[in-house]
Amino acid sequence: MSAEHELVVLNPATEEVVATVPAADAADVDRAVARASAAQRTWASAAPADRARLLRRFADVVDAHVEELARLEVREAGHVLGNARWEAGNARDLLLYSAGGAERLLGRQIPVPGGWDVTFQEPLGVVGVIAPWNFPMPIAAWGSFPALAAGNAVVLKPAETTPLTALRLAELALEAGLPEHLFQVLPGYGHIAGRALVDHPDVAKIVFTGSTRTGREVMERCARLVKPVTLELGGKSPNIVFADADVKTAVDPFSFLDNSGQDCCARTRILVQEQVYDEVRELLADTLAGVRVGDPADEKTQMGPLISRQQLDRVRSLVPEDAPALRGSAPDGPGFWFPPTVLTGERHDSEAAREEIFGPVAVLLPFTDEADAIRLANDTPYGLAGSLWTRDLGRALRVSRAVKAGNLSVNSHSSVRYWTPFGGYKQSGLGRELGPDALTAFTETKNVFISTEA
Ligand code: NDP
Repeated sequence: MSAEHELVVLNPATEEVVATVPAADAADVDRAVARASAAQRTWASAAPADRARLLRRFADVVDAHVEELARLEVREAGHVLGNARWEAGNARDLLLYSAGGAERLLGRQIPVPGGWDVTFQEPLGVVGVIAPWNFPMPIAAWGSFPALAAGNAVVLKPAETTPLTALRLAELALEAGLPEHLFQVLPGYGHIAGRALVDHPDVAKIVFTGSTRTGREVMERCARLVKPVTLELGGKSPNIVFADADVKTAVDPFSFLDNSGQDCCARTRILVQEQVYDEVRELLADTLAGVRVGDPADEKTQMGPLISRQQLDRVRSLVPEDAPALRGSAPDGPGFWFPPTVLTGERHDSEAAREEIFGPVAVLLPFTDEADAIRLANDTPYGLAGSLWTRDLGRALRVSRAVKAGNLSVNSHSSVRYWTPFGGYKQSGLGRELGPDALTAFTETKNVFISTEA
């Protein structure tokens, strides 16, 4: 088989081959979309309660396989076991949440003279989901499960490095009794299978998560067909620490080291008010030295490898070995290891301070006052997430409104809950996933007027 026809899945902690998977081409995408269209027509005509019942059964089956899915994620993506369990649980929980949504996806009746006016939320048809490798299970789930609940079929292309958990989820869907071809997973290369999905005239919407560069191309191609698209793209999120904050909690290094920093919401710009800069620097030096980096399958490990040689090379190219920094340690190899790092000599407009590095790397930058903090926080093309830490309520309210980002946390590092909306401002994306409106994003609104005067 040629390299274009198969995917070789490596364990990023050992570089051993985990599996070899056939890669889909444009003809495979064609066939999958045709089958999905047929399955969708039946699915859309089912009673919402029946769709909900099947999705709940799917959630039960996923629940029974959380440990298996988590261990598969550890092997193909190098995620530490505890995080991988959370990821499988997140997919299950989103299924349950979406199932409830299927029953609450209601139209409206709008008073008009001379008749009745009603709206319907109708499914789009076949939705194409293109997922990245950084959170293979949750991101596959966020794009797919609300779409299914709203009455669509899904064709999902996982990242070439991480197709295995998505394939397993598709098997579990069948085991749970979901109709054949309703939720199909097509592993393949982005420039072949991904493009074919984006360009397919019978794919009604694309949900893309990945780099801003590829997202831009996907949007351009969708524009030719006037195809709706949801984009979840890069980030360079600030962690703004005011001098009056609980500094120890605010500078938790796992706000940028989780998932080895391969997290679009990672708080990779640590903006610290100058009065507490030295204290924060010392705290970070201590905590980075203690981070346990190694075998992700070991329950005690806190940080695993990067996903691939390519990603390791990219991180190394953005973070020179001799750059002034606080550093932890990492194994030598085999595997794709990079030590936890905080760059201390950067200007806020340097490449490392502006670019999404997608590795365990943050920059530490001082600010003077509230206005300076807001200016630095917003001086980026991205706007996905961010945190701010202060005990001053008025300041918390002012700054959280002034920072241009889709997901802000006050005195907290977390951004993602499946029942609240998630998405970015500026070049971090377009549209929202999750939350109460997730299902509506996979529907068209139809308005019907019925005359009472005919
Ligand atoms: P990409 O954005 O290229 O990949 C994301 C997904 O898109 C993958 O499934 C990929 O397939 C697919 N894809 C690639 N090219 C096309 C295309 N032309 N048409 C349709 N689909 C396509 O990210 P990379 O994996 O190249 O990572 C590079 C950088 O992107 C990272 O260093 C990081 O900065 C950023 N990134 C951001 C993510 C986020 O969540 N915001 C997630 C992943 C990466 P394939 O796997 O075959 O390439």
